[in-house]
Amino acid sequence: MSRLFNFCAGPSTLPRSVLDQAQQDFLDWNNLGASVMEISHRSKPFIEIAQQAEQDLRDLLNVPDNYKVLFLQGGAYGQFSGIPLNLLGTHTQIDLIETGTWSEKAAQCAANYAKVNILATTAAQKYTTLPDLSNIQASSESAYVFYCSNETINGVEFQDTPVILKCANNTQPDLVADMSSNILSRKINVADYGLIFAGAQKNIGPSGLVLVIVREDLLDRAHIHTPDVFNYAMQAQNGSMLNTPPTFSWYMVGLVFKWLKANGGIAAIEKVNIQKANALYKTIDESDFYSNPIAIEARSRMNVPFILKDESLNARFIAQAKDAGLINLEGHRMVGGMRASIYNAMPLDGVLTLCEFMRHFEKTS
Ligand SMILES: *Cc1c(COP(=O)(O)O)cnc(C)c1O
Repeated sequence: MSRLFNFCAGPSTLPRSVLDQAQQDFLDWNNLGASVMEISHRSKPFIEIAQQAEQDLRDLLNVPDNYKVLFLQGGAYGQFSGIPLNLLGTHTQIDLIETGTWSEKAAQCAANYAKVNILATTAAQKYTTLPDLSNIQASSESAYVFYCSNETINGVEFQDTPVILKCANNTQPDLVADMSSNILSRKINVADYGLIFAGAQKNIGPSGLVLVIVREDLLDRAHIHTPDVFNYAMQAQNGSMLNTPPTFSWYMVGLVFKWLKANGGIAAIEKVNIQKANALYKTIDESDFYSNPIAIEARSRMNVPFILKDESLNARFIAQAKDAGLINLEGHRMVGGMRASIYNAMPLDGVLTLCEFMRHFEKTS
């Protein structure tokens, strides 16, 4: 069977050229006579792959020199615990902006370690919008302010870095961002953050890795009971190889970074991402047949949930979409309906094919 356009939310579609390269390299990487996943993570060839991937990521995001880039395991979910363990220091509280399922989960995990002060929440709006932060002030007791830049399940995305007013004592807690599903999709200024983290399997590569980009001065305060593999300072000192990393995933994310660079970097992919999202939301908005529940200014460019007016047509929509070469459009079980995840690796052509299919389905239903 040929490859179809895959709208899965994660693990998600990868660039075709990256998969072709991996296939070519699969049995014999770089004339070593072995696969990249069969060699030691401490060998010179693998260290080169690892360091090149870090450098390419630094180039893509303009990561300042005073930030460490870590390639860790345990997923973004692991970091919901790893972050409080590493960053609380002498604090007993964090601030959190609750905008959907993932920031809710992050709050639950952080509550094992600290008091979680919800600065703002859109739970009452069923996470269909973003909170007004204009009069929100960080609390001086908090170690950091946590938020999720793109809520993968709900389809809500911050269009800019949130601006939180300084605390009463005129300090500003560091901003910590879960960017699992929109990192590398749009321009960001890394220096605005104390820490950025992202599971790989949405917009970076296959599952198995979580990226942590953390300012160096935050590495001195890990709780004594932090497991070594989650300890940022220890991992930083050991090039993220305190233990065996997922070497094949690391190699794959390296290929994706190279693909992004070769295609013009973040500025170029952001343009395509805007085109894709505009086309899909336009198709939804122009019909009475489909709808998207999210406030327009809060809509995600990466994850587009939509519902059919007549929900009894859901199964037929999914079946006919598959026949048209479009797969994995089922919505998350908590939200229902449909969801099209249109990350960096989804070509514009895939989204235009989906839009065409949706119009056709509407006409013929
Ligand atoms: C998928 C996702 C997670 C969880 O990632 P895992 O790698 O499965 O731990 C956390 N946050 C966001 C925003 C996600 O999209």
